[in-house]
Amino acid sequence: MSDLPSHTRVVIIGGGAVGASCAYHIAKAGWDVVLLEKNELTAGSTWHAAGNCPSFSTSWAVMNMQRYSLDLYRRLADEVDYPMNYHVTGSIRLGHSRERIQEFERAVSMGRYQGMDLEMMQVGDLKSRYPFLETHDLAGALYDPDDGDIDPAQLTQALAKGARMAGARIERFCPATGVSRDKGEWVIHTPKGDIRCEKVVNAAGYYAQRVGEWFKPFGGRTVPMAVMSHQYFLTEEIPAIREWCESTGNRKLPLLRDVDSSYYLRQEKYGLNLGPYERNCKAHWVTPDDPMPEDFSFQLYPDDLERLEWYIEDAMARVPLLGEGGVGRNINGPIPYAPDGLPLIGPMPGVPNAFEACVFTFGITQSGGAGKVLAEWVTEGCTEWDMWAVDPRRYTDYTDPQYCIDKALETYGHEYAMHFPWHRWPAAPDRRTSALHDRLKAAGAQFGVYNGWERANWFAQPGDDTSEEATHTWDRSGPFQPRIEEECAAVRDHAGVLAISGFTRLRVQGPGARAHVDGLTCSRLPKPGRVGLAYFPDTRGRILTEMSVIPSSDEDLLLITAAVAQWHDRDVLTTGLPEGVTVTDESADFDCLLVTGPQSRAILAPLTDADLSLPWLSVQQATVAGKPVTLMRVSFAGELGWEIHCAAADAPAIWDAVTGAGAKPFGMFALNALRVEKAYRAWKGDLSTDYTLLQGGLDRFIDWSKPFPGKAALEQERATGPTKRFAVLRVEAGPADTPYMATIRQGDTIVGEATAGAWGYRVGHSVALAMIRTDLTAPGTELEIDIFGERRPATVLGDGPIWDAQNERIKA
Ligand SMILES: Cc1cc2nc3c(=O)[nH]c(=O)nc-3n(C[C@H](O)[C@H](O)[C@H](O)COP(=O)(O)OP(=O)(O)OC[C@H]3O[C@@H](n4cnc5c(N)ncnc54)[C@H](O)[C@@H]3O)c2cc1C
Repeated sequence: MSDLPSHTRVVIIGGGAVGASCAYHIAKAGWDVVLLEKNELTAGSTWHAAGNCPSFSTSWAVMNMQRYSLDLYRRLADEVDYPMNYHVTGSIRLGHSRERIQEFERAVSMGRYQGMDLEMMQVGDLKSRYPFLETHDLAGALYDPDDGDIDPAQLTQALAKGARMAGARIERFCPATGVSRDKGEWVIHTPKGDIRCEKVVNAAGYYAQRVGEWFKPFGGRTVPMAVMSHQYFLTEEIPAIREWCESTGNRKLPLLRDVDSSYYLRQEKYGLNLGPYERNCKAHWVTPDDPMPEDFSFQLYPDDLERLEWYIEDAMARVPLLGEGGVGRNINGPIPYAPDGLPLIGPMPGVPNAFEACVFTFGITQSGGAGKVLAEWVTEGCTEWDMWAVDPRRYTDYTDPQYCIDKALETYGHEYAMHFPWHRWPAAPDRRTSALHDRLKAAGAQFGVYNGWERANWFAQPGDDTSEEATHTWDRSGPFQPRIEEECAAVRDHAGVLAISGFTRLRVQGPGARAHVDGLTCSRLPKPGRVGLAYFPDTRGRILTEMSVIPSSDEDLLLITAAVAQWHDRDVLTTGLPEGVTVTDESADFDCLLVTGPQSRAILAPLTDADLSLPWLSVQQATVAGKPVTLMRVSFAGELGWEIHCAAADAPAIWDAVTGAGAKPFGMFALNALRVEKAYRAWKGDLSTDYTLLQGGLDRFIDWSKPFPGKAALEQERATGPTKRFAVLRVEAGPADTPYMATIRQGDTIVGEATAGAWGYRVGHSVALAMIRTDLTAPGTELEIDIFGERRPATVLGDGPIWDAQNERIKA
């Protein structure tokens, strides 16, 4: 007889570092939880991980998660009385170029904001921390005092012990073999019997896709991932390292990362551990003749040192001492990669009460924070920090297996690459192209990807440099800059047309449809014939999402939202869905063209039977170029304008007509510059669960007379006043505009952060949207912003549009 419990609140499938951390955090939240591990704990990727624990990240959310992990690891051994080998050695990240140093400077600034002591180092100072280093070709470095290495197996065991102490049950050698649903509960099948539970977590590491398949009958999708092979090798003892350690009171060398050459080098005992992320990398288990084995517990791939040759030579030139140690041991293990290299942590798309905490490429340094975040999703339904960067719903159904492989190869081979705002990663293009694609291409479109959709970012002219290299800059200038300026000028002075393919369109229908949507938003819904912006708070009054609502009747409402919000906002709208009300995704059936600028009425008039005198926010059915359309008088560019929503196949005829009538094609980069001048917020930049509606300055979208989620929290905040508030700043920027999450200061005190920045071509200066301390929001307040290592003066202008402040142009 098995003593497996028949019932628990949460089942976690997978006992690596991440599953153990999830169990630890869920149990500490007071919930019953059972972790199932098919072999021994750590049998997946965890046992062979190098155990490096950086805090560095250029993502605010990931940095938060890693910072939390390191805080936890420092105290965990004592807390659970399980000694661990955890060496906090610090690390040095080498920079070879101005752009890399700028990237470091940005991370230092973000890190300081999060309370960490990241610091920049001059080349001349490097040898004092790492005497064996060749420095002649370096531009500088970043020092992270919190970096180090931990024994991954001990970490997992310590987390498991902590979980058990808090009441969790850990079942080893007990594979989950499938799932089913019964009476609203999950039934998890195992050879030892079934366990029923409310919620289930897929923490199966590189097996996550296989486990994910079980959830398809319940609304799931194929988990977007591929399994890469990742190697590091350990040298034998190097006498000079032993001597250095003994002469320095047994210090350990800091971990070295040569990110431009793409490897790390760490002291391991008295030898070195070299771990490259090689360009010529390899995915495993991706072809029918190389199937993923049923069980790969505690196994490795065969050594493949040839792939690492270039990196070994480069590292030997950097630290010649490396050549003195013979190769001791090579580790080549499976490591799962999502297309962007970030893990999947959060709700499983489309499946109720199921969650993911899987596909970790840095699961040792992230497991602590990941467990906290996952436990919050499971036990509270929302997270302390906005975690969209790792939310599984950021991928929708364009991620077929080949896409995942191509992207995993690209991402792994560029693991340490810089992510420039103008650059587009080229692998796996054209997942979703609109009927306009060829026309856009012919007009010079340089495409970006939005939820898999190809949209023009800017339009190149003959002779423009459209190489990838030309986009490798944080600066404003580049071949795209004069074109963005021209596109903005056309929208300001004449008219532009932007193809916004891939807008998410969710139709809510049925008796009670309007009441259902009304109950989810704090905003007043518009009447039929009008479009209105509605905000959806979470239970804490924070900004979950924003959608445009277009009701046809009380039983039929169309909600239009950001392309990338497709699966997230579907979840929002299906929350508590009453019987008889349906939510249908119509995104792929339609296209949208924004025609905007002072001449847009004159351009559209001969092409349409619509009444173009109808006011701002009006909606009408009409024809344009003979095609049936829904015409909405709105413009995210902040000029007179209309969104033309049409059947996907009709978009080319409409495009031809409006461009033929003189509207100039413009792209998403210009749109971003234009919207920032109008203080129009963008989802998951300016609008996120890091901020409440009141902090976001969205008071006028709150109808206090009705019930809505998070109302009590917002009422309380209204009584005391929000501590930080949205503001628009004029920035005396240098060559670069303000990046996301740039730190804002008054003197040496950090007082807020930027959520967006761009050059405002209509107002003629650099603009930042920001969240700053409420007492500093008065217009005229002088502040400073950290922009890639430079402190630039910034002046608060207010909390509304700085172009056409009275909205006369949009209402003309
Ligand atoms: C060579 C190498 C070096 C690395 N170095 C580092 C590093 O220095 N720092 C770092 O942060 N990361 C590193 N990583 C990555 C790290 O190993 C992983 O990100 C991390 O181990 C992932 O942990 P996990 O718990 O998500 O997955 P895993 O450790 O793979 O755990 C998943 C578990 O699920 C179990 N399982 C699967 N299916 C089932 C089922 N049906 N029922 C029950 N159990 C199941 C498996 O047996 C496994 O134990 C390295 C990886 C490699 C390959």
